[in-house]
Amino acid sequence: MDNTIANNPGWKSEEPVQVTKTYLPPQEEYQQFLNGIWNRAWVTNHGPLVTQLEEDLSAMLDVPYLKFLNNGTIALQIAIKALDLKGEVITSPFSYVATTSSLVWENCTPIFADIEPGTFTLDPQQVEKAITPRTTAIMATHVFGNPCDVEGLKQVAEKYNLSIIYDAAHAYGVRYKGESLFRYGHFSTLSCHATKLFHTIEGGAITTIDEELNHKMSYMRNFGHNGQEDFYGLGINGKNSEFHAAMGLCLLPKMKDLIHQRETIFKNYQKLLEKVAEKVSYQEIRTGTDYNYSYFPVVFESEEDLLRVQKQMNAANIFPRRYFYPCLSSLNYVQDTGRTPVSTGLSKRILCLPFHSQLDSDLQENISTLLLKAIQ
Ligand SMILES: *Cc1c(COP(=O)(O)O)cnc(C)c1O
Repeated sequence: MDNTIANNPGWKSEEPVQVTKTYLPPQEEYQQFLNGIWNRAWVTNHGPLVTQLEEDLSAMLDVPYLKFLNNGTIALQIAIKALDLKGEVITSPFSYVATTSSLVWENCTPIFADIEPGTFTLDPQQVEKAITPRTTAIMATHVFGNPCDVEGLKQVAEKYNLSIIYDAAHAYGVRYKGESLFRYGHFSTLSCHATKLFHTIEGGAITTIDEELNHKMSYMRNFGHNGQEDFYGLGINGKNSEFHAAMGLCLLPKMKDLIHQRETIFKNYQKLLEKVAEKVSYQEIRTGTDYNYSYFPVVFESEEDLLRVQKQMNAANIFPRRYFYPCLSSLNYVQDTGRTPVSTGLSKRILCLPFHSQLDSDLQENISTLLLKAIQ
Protein backbone atom coordinates (compact mmCIF):
# COMPACT_ATOMS: atom_id res chain seq x y z
CA MET A 1 0.00 0.00 0.00
CA ASP A 2 1.19 3.48 -0.85
CA ASN A 3 1.48 5.26 2.45
CA THR A 4 2.28 8.75 1.21
CA ILE A 5 0.20 11.77 2.14
CA ALA A 6 -0.77 12.20 -1.53
CA ASN A 7 -2.83 9.01 -1.26
CA ASN A 8 -3.63 9.22 2.40
CA PRO A 9 -4.29 12.86 3.43
CA GLY A 10 -4.88 12.15 7.12
CA TRP A 11 -1.57 10.31 7.42
CA LYS A 12 0.11 10.21 10.79
CA SER A 13 3.19 8.20 11.69
CA GLU A 14 2.39 5.26 13.97
CA GLU A 15 5.69 5.54 15.79
CA PRO A 16 7.17 8.87 16.88
CA VAL A 17 9.86 9.96 14.39
CA GLN A 18 12.75 11.72 16.08
CA VAL A 19 15.39 13.99 14.54
CA THR A 20 17.77 11.05 14.43
CA LYS A 21 17.73 7.32 14.97
CA THR A 22 20.74 5.65 16.53
CA TYR A 23 22.36 3.18 14.16
CA LEU A 24 22.91 -0.19 15.83
CA PRO A 25 25.01 -2.93 14.23
CA PRO A 26 23.73 -6.51 13.84
CA GLN A 27 23.62 -7.88 17.38
CA GLU A 28 25.94 -10.83 16.56
CA GLU A 29 28.71 -8.42 15.68
CA TYR A 30 28.53 -6.76 19.06
CA GLN A 31 28.25 -10.19 20.69
CA GLN A 32 31.63 -11.18 19.21
CA PHE A 33 33.26 -8.35 21.11
CA LEU A 34 31.34 -9.26 24.28
CA ASN A 35 32.77 -12.78 24.15
CA GLY A 36 36.26 -11.32 24.21
CA ILE A 37 35.41 -9.02 27.09
CA TRP A 38 34.03 -11.96 29.11
CA ASN A 39 37.11 -14.04 28.40
CA ARG A 40 39.47 -11.32 29.54
CA ALA A 41 37.28 -9.92 32.32
CA TRP A 42 38.94 -6.61 31.51
CA VAL A 43 36.07 -4.16 31.28
CA THR A 44 37.61 -0.71 31.60
CA ASN A 45 40.88 1.18 32.25
CA HIS A 46 42.51 1.26 28.80
CA GLY A 47 41.64 -2.28 27.77
CA PRO A 48 42.51 -3.80 24.40
CA LEU A 49 39.27 -2.62 22.72
CA VAL A 50 39.77 0.96 23.86
CA THR A 51 43.35 0.81 22.60
CA GLN A 52 42.20 -0.68 19.30
CA LEU A 53 39.51 1.97 18.86
CA GLU A 54 42.01 4.74 19.59
CA GLU A 55 44.34 3.36 16.92
CA ASP A 56 41.61 2.88 14.32
CA LEU A 57 39.93 6.21 15.00
CA SER A 58 43.15 8.19 14.90
CA ALA A 59 44.03 6.48 11.59
CA MET A 60 40.56 7.23 10.27
CA LEU A 61 40.67 10.88 11.38
CA ASP A 62 44.27 11.12 10.26
CA VAL A 63 45.63 12.63 13.49
CA PRO A 64 48.74 11.47 15.32
CA TYR A 65 47.27 11.70 18.84
CA LEU A 66 43.79 10.73 19.94
CA LYS A 67 42.29 9.67 23.28
CA PHE A 68 38.92 8.00 23.61
CA LEU A 69 36.94 9.62 26.42
CA ASN A 70 33.65 9.15 28.24
CA ASN A 71 31.97 12.02 26.40
CA GLY A 72 32.51 15.07 24.21
CA THR A 73 31.97 17.52 27.05
CA ILE A 74 34.82 16.14 29.16
CA ALA A 75 36.90 16.39 25.96
CA LEU A 76 36.25 20.14 25.83
CA GLN A 77 37.05 20.51 29.51
CA ILE A 78 40.30 18.58 29.27
CA ALA A 79 41.28 20.77 26.30
CA ILE A 80 40.61 23.94 28.32
CA LYS A 81 42.57 22.59 31.32
CA ALA A 82 45.50 21.30 29.26
CA LEU A 83 45.92 24.75 27.70
CA ASP A 84 45.54 26.27 31.16
CA LEU A 85 43.04 28.79 29.84
CA LYS A 86 41.95 31.70 31.98
CA GLY A 87 40.21 35.00 31.34
CA GLU A 88 38.16 35.49 28.19
CA VAL A 89 37.61 32.91 25.48
CA ILE A 90 35.93 34.02 22.27
CA THR A 91 33.26 31.61 21.13
CA SER A 92 30.11 31.22 19.06
CA PRO A 93 26.61 31.47 20.53
CA PHE A 94 25.39 29.24 17.69
CA SER A 95 26.40 25.84 19.03
CA TYR A 96 25.25 23.22 21.49
CA VAL A 97 25.22 24.44 25.10
CA ALA A 98 28.26 22.28 26.04
CA THR A 99 30.59 24.58 24.07
CA THR A 100 29.79 27.53 26.32
CA SER A 101 29.01 25.67 29.55
CA SER A 102 32.42 23.93 29.50
CA LEU A 103 34.13 27.32 29.46
CA VAL A 104 32.08 28.59 32.38
CA TRP A 105 32.59 25.31 34.27
CA GLU A 106 36.36 25.80 33.91
CA ASN A 107 36.11 29.40 35.17
CA CYS A 108 36.66 31.07 31.81
CA THR A 109 34.46 33.88 30.55
CA PRO A 110 32.84 33.16 27.19
CA ILE A 111 32.78 36.21 24.94
CA PHE A 112 30.41 35.81 22.03
CA ALA A 113 31.38 36.81 18.52
CA ASP A 114 29.05 36.42 15.57
CA ILE A 115 28.95 33.77 12.85
CA GLU A 116 29.15 34.00 9.08
CA PRO A 117 25.58 34.10 7.73
CA GLY A 118 26.08 31.31 5.14
CA THR A 119 28.32 28.76 6.84
CA PHE A 120 27.02 29.33 10.43
CA THR A 121 30.61 29.17 11.74
CA LEU A 122 32.51 31.78 13.77
CA ASP A 123 33.52 34.81 11.66
CA PRO A 124 37.27 35.59 12.07
CA GLN A 125 36.67 39.33 11.59
CA GLN A 126 34.10 39.35 14.38
CA VAL A 127 36.52 37.36 16.55
CA GLU A 128 39.22 39.97 16.02
CA LYS A 129 36.83 42.75 17.05
CA ALA A 130 36.06 40.93 20.31
CA ILE A 131 39.71 40.59 21.41
CA THR A 132 40.79 42.37 24.61
CA PRO A 133 43.97 42.14 26.72
CA ARG A 134 42.20 39.39 28.72
CA THR A 135 41.56 37.14 25.70
CA THR A 136 43.43 33.82 25.87
CA ALA A 137 41.76 31.58 23.29
CA ILE A 138 39.17 30.93 20.61
CA MET A 139 36.68 28.08 20.93
CA ALA A 140 34.98 27.49 17.60
CA THR A 141 32.44 24.86 16.50
CA HIS A 142 32.45 23.12 13.11
CA VAL A 143 28.68 23.57 13.00
CA PHE A 144 26.81 20.50 11.65
CA GLY A 145 30.23 19.29 10.44
CA ASN A 146 30.85 22.35 8.25
CA PRO A 147 34.47 23.49 8.69
CA CYS A 148 35.14 26.85 10.31
CA ASP A 149 37.28 29.32 8.39
CA VAL A 150 40.29 27.53 9.87
CA GLU A 151 42.79 29.66 7.93
CA GLY A 152 41.16 32.94 8.96
CA LEU A 153 40.94 31.90 12.61
CA LYS A 154 44.56 30.72 12.58
CA GLN A 155 45.70 34.11 11.31
CA VAL A 156 43.87 35.94 14.08
CA ALA A 157 45.10 33.47 16.71
CA GLU A 158 48.73 33.85 15.62
CA LYS A 159 48.53 37.64 15.48
CA TYR A 160 47.28 37.83 19.09
CA ASN A 161 48.99 34.70 20.44
CA LEU A 162 45.78 32.84 21.23
CA SER A 163 45.06 29.11 21.52
CA ILE A 164 42.36 27.49 19.42
CA ILE A 165 40.05 24.66 20.45
CA TYR A 166 37.75 23.25 17.81
CA ASP A 167 34.53 21.73 19.02
CA ALA A 168 34.41 19.09 16.29
CA ALA A 169 31.54 17.18 17.94
CA HIS A 170 29.76 16.93 14.55
CA ALA A 171 32.83 16.63 12.35
CA TYR A 172 33.55 12.89 12.23
CA GLY A 173 35.24 12.11 8.90
CA VAL A 174 35.23 15.66 7.52
CA ARG A 175 38.20 16.69 5.41
CA TYR A 176 39.05 20.19 4.26
CA LYS A 177 41.30 20.88 1.28
CA GLY A 178 42.29 17.22 1.29
CA GLU A 179 43.36 17.22 4.92
CA SER A 180 41.66 16.03 8.09
CA LEU A 181 39.76 18.81 9.83
CA PHE A 182 41.12 17.39 13.09
CA ARG A 183 44.61 18.60 12.26
CA TYR A 184 43.70 22.25 12.86
CA GLY A 185 43.94 24.12 16.15
CA HIS A 186 45.63 23.06 19.38
CA PHE A 187 42.90 20.56 20.20
CA SER A 188 39.82 19.19 18.46
CA THR A 189 37.09 17.38 20.33
CA LEU A 190 34.66 14.78 19.01
CA SER A 191 31.40 13.58 20.51
CA CYS A 192 30.47 9.90 20.11
CA HIS A 193 27.08 10.28 21.76
CA ALA A 194 24.26 8.07 20.45
CA THR A 195 22.73 11.03 18.56
CA LYS A 196 25.94 11.73 16.65
CA LEU A 197 27.04 10.39 13.28
CA PHE A 198 29.68 8.03 14.71
CA HIS A 199 28.70 6.82 18.16
CA THR A 200 29.83 4.62 21.03
CA ILE A 201 26.54 5.02 22.97
CA GLU A 202 28.20 7.60 25.22
CA GLY A 203 31.69 8.70 24.35
CA GLY A 204 33.99 11.30 22.94
CA ALA A 205 37.55 11.90 21.85
CA ILE A 206 40.19 14.57 22.04
CA THR A 207 42.84 15.00 19.35
CA THR A 208 45.97 17.06 18.85
CA ILE A 209 48.98 17.11 16.59
CA ASP A 210 51.24 18.46 19.35
CA GLU A 211 53.35 15.97 21.31
CA GLU A 212 53.46 17.97 24.51
CA LEU A 213 49.70 18.56 24.50
CA ASN A 214 49.23 14.86 23.88
CA HIS A 215 51.18 14.09 27.05
CA LYS A 216 49.02 16.50 29.03
CA MET A 217 45.68 15.26 27.69
CA SER A 218 46.78 11.66 28.27
CA TYR A 219 47.50 12.01 31.96
CA MET A 220 44.63 14.44 32.56
CA ARG A 221 42.05 11.93 31.37
CA ASN A 222 43.42 9.37 33.84
CA PHE A 223 43.38 11.28 37.15
CA GLY A 224 46.88 12.63 36.46
CA HIS A 225 48.45 9.18 37.05
CA ASN A 226 52.09 8.48 36.22
CA GLY A 227 52.03 4.79 37.10
CA GLN A 228 50.26 3.50 40.22
CA GLU A 229 52.02 5.54 42.85
CA ASP A 230 52.96 8.79 41.17
CA PHE A 231 51.18 11.70 39.53
CA TYR A 232 52.20 14.11 36.78
CA GLY A 233 49.64 16.67 37.88
CA LEU A 234 45.95 17.43 38.11
CA GLY A 235 43.60 15.10 36.28
CA ILE A 236 40.04 13.88 36.07
CA ASN A 237 38.28 10.63 35.16
CA GLY A 238 37.85 10.87 31.40
CA LYS A 239 38.11 7.14 30.68
CA ASN A 240 35.65 5.07 28.71
CA SER A 241 34.90 1.32 28.85
CA GLU A 242 35.46 -1.76 26.70
CA PHE A 243 31.69 -1.99 26.10
CA HIS A 244 31.61 1.49 24.58
CA ALA A 245 34.75 0.88 22.54
CA ALA A 246 33.16 -2.33 21.20
CA MET A 247 30.23 -0.36 19.78
CA GLY A 248 32.69 1.99 18.08
CA LEU A 249 34.64 -0.92 16.62
CA CYS A 250 31.40 -2.36 15.19
CA LEU A 251 30.49 0.95 13.56
CA LEU A 252 33.84 2.19 12.25
CA PRO A 253 34.06 -0.17 9.24
CA LYS A 254 30.51 0.79 8.24
CA MET A 255 30.90 4.57 8.40
CA LYS A 256 31.79 5.07 4.77
CA ASP A 257 28.63 3.29 3.60
CA LEU A 258 26.48 5.01 6.21
CA ILE A 259 27.73 8.43 5.11
CA HIS A 260 27.10 7.52 1.50
CA GLN A 261 23.50 6.53 2.31
CA ARG A 262 23.05 9.82 4.13
CA GLU A 263 24.31 11.74 1.13
CA THR A 264 21.57 10.18 -1.02
CA ILE A 265 18.87 10.99 1.54
CA PHE A 266 20.25 14.53 2.01
CA LYS A 267 20.05 15.24 -1.71
CA ASN A 268 16.61 13.70 -1.94
CA TYR A 269 15.35 16.10 0.76
CA GLN A 270 16.65 19.06 -1.25
CA LYS A 271 14.87 17.73 -4.30
CA LEU A 272 11.62 17.10 -2.47
CA LEU A 273 11.74 20.66 -1.11
CA GLU A 274 12.46 22.33 -4.45
CA LYS A 275 8.90 23.70 -4.61
CA VAL A 276 9.62 25.97 -1.65
CA ALA A 277 13.14 26.86 -2.77
CA GLU A 278 12.37 30.57 -2.37
CA LYS A 279 11.12 30.15 1.16
CA VAL A 280 13.89 28.07 2.65
CA SER A 281 17.67 28.15 2.59
CA TYR A 282 20.45 25.78 3.56
CA GLN A 283 23.85 25.90 5.18
CA GLU A 284 26.61 26.74 2.70
CA ILE A 285 29.20 24.00 2.91
CA ARG A 286 32.64 25.59 2.69
CA THR A 287 34.37 25.06 -0.67
CA GLY A 288 37.01 22.35 -0.44
CA THR A 289 35.08 20.24 2.08
CA ASP A 290 34.53 16.48 2.00
CA TYR A 291 31.30 16.66 3.93
CA ASN A 292 29.83 14.04 6.29
CA TYR A 293 26.08 14.76 5.91
CA SER A 294 25.56 14.74 9.64
CA TYR A 295 22.38 16.84 9.83
CA PHE A 296 19.67 18.23 7.59
CA PRO A 297 19.03 21.79 8.77
CA VAL A 298 16.47 24.01 7.02
CA VAL A 299 16.39 27.79 7.48
CA PHE A 300 13.00 29.48 7.14
CA GLU A 301 12.23 33.10 6.27
CA SER A 302 10.59 33.67 9.65
CA GLU A 303 10.11 32.03 13.01
CA GLU A 304 6.36 31.94 12.23
CA ASP A 305 7.06 29.63 9.27
CA LEU A 306 9.20 27.41 11.47
CA LEU A 307 6.56 27.18 14.18
CA ARG A 308 3.89 26.32 11.62
CA VAL A 309 6.06 23.53 10.22
CA GLN A 310 6.90 22.23 13.68
CA LYS A 311 3.23 22.21 14.72
CA GLN A 312 2.06 20.33 11.62
CA MET A 313 4.85 17.78 11.95
CA ASN A 314 4.26 17.23 15.66
CA ALA A 315 0.58 16.59 14.92
CA ALA A 316 1.72 13.82 12.56
CA ASN A 317 4.03 12.35 15.25
CA ILE A 318 7.20 13.81 13.64
CA PHE A 319 9.66 15.62 15.88
CA PRO A 320 12.25 17.76 14.14
CA ARG A 321 14.61 19.64 16.49
CA ARG A 322 15.46 23.30 16.83
CA TYR A 323 19.26 23.05 16.68
CA PHE A 324 20.48 25.44 18.03
CA TYR A 325 17.83 27.26 19.96
CA PRO A 326 17.85 29.31 22.06
CA CYS A 327 20.95 31.27 21.09
CA LEU A 328 23.57 30.64 23.80
CA SER A 329 23.94 34.38 24.45
CA SER A 330 20.58 34.15 26.26
CA LEU A 331 21.83 31.64 28.89
CA ASN A 332 21.35 32.96 32.41
CA TYR A 333 25.00 32.44 33.39
CA VAL A 334 26.69 34.41 30.61
CA GLN A 335 27.01 38.03 29.51
CA ASP A 336 25.34 38.83 26.22
CA THR A 337 27.70 41.01 24.16
CA GLY A 338 24.77 42.16 22.03
CA ARG A 339 27.04 41.76 19.02
CA THR A 340 25.64 38.56 17.55
CA PRO A 341 22.58 39.51 15.47
CA VAL A 342 23.28 36.84 12.84
CA SER A 343 23.36 34.04 15.43
CA THR A 344 20.31 35.33 17.28
CA GLY A 345 18.32 35.63 14.05
CA LEU A 346 19.39 32.23 12.72
CA SER A 347 18.62 30.43 15.99
CA LYS A 348 14.97 31.40 15.66
CA ARG A 349 14.58 30.21 12.08
CA ILE A 350 16.49 26.93 11.83
CA LEU A 351 15.06 23.44 12.18
CA CYS A 352 16.78 20.08 11.73
CA LEU A 353 14.54 17.56 9.98
CA PRO A 354 14.56 13.86 10.89
CA PHE A 355 17.62 12.48 9.17
CA HIS A 356 19.51 9.21 9.40
CA SER A 357 20.93 6.57 7.12
CA GLN A 358 17.86 4.30 7.33
CA LEU A 359 15.19 6.96 6.71
CA ASP A 360 12.46 5.31 4.66
CA SER A 361 11.67 7.06 1.35
CA ASP A 362 7.89 7.24 1.90
CA LEU A 363 8.47 8.73 5.31
CA GLN A 364 10.92 11.22 3.87
CA GLU A 365 8.36 12.20 1.26
CA ASN A 366 5.71 12.68 3.92
CA ILE A 367 7.97 14.82 6.09
CA SER A 368 8.69 17.00 3.06
CA THR A 369 5.00 17.22 2.12
CA LEU A 370 4.13 18.36 5.64
CA LEU A 371 6.76 21.07 5.36
CA LEU A 372 5.49 22.20 1.95
CA LYS A 373 1.88 22.29 3.14
CA ALA A 374 2.78 24.37 6.17
CA ILE A 375 4.52 27.19 4.31
CA GLN A 376 3.39 27.10 0.68
C1 LIG B 1 26.93 16.79 21.32
C2 LIG B 1 27.75 18.01 21.43
C3 LIG B 1 28.65 18.21 22.49
C4 LIG B 1 28.69 17.33 23.70
O1 LIG B 1 29.04 16.03 23.47
P1 LIG B 1 28.63 14.88 24.53
O2 LIG B 1 29.33 13.69 24.00
O3 LIG B 1 27.14 14.76 24.46
O4 LIG B 1 29.10 15.31 25.86
C5 LIG B 1 29.48 19.32 22.44
N1 LIG B 1 29.40 20.21 21.43
C6 LIG B 1 28.53 20.06 20.41
C7 LIG B 1 28.54 21.07 19.31
C8 LIG B 1 27.66 18.98 20.40
O5 LIG B 1 26.76 18.87 19.41
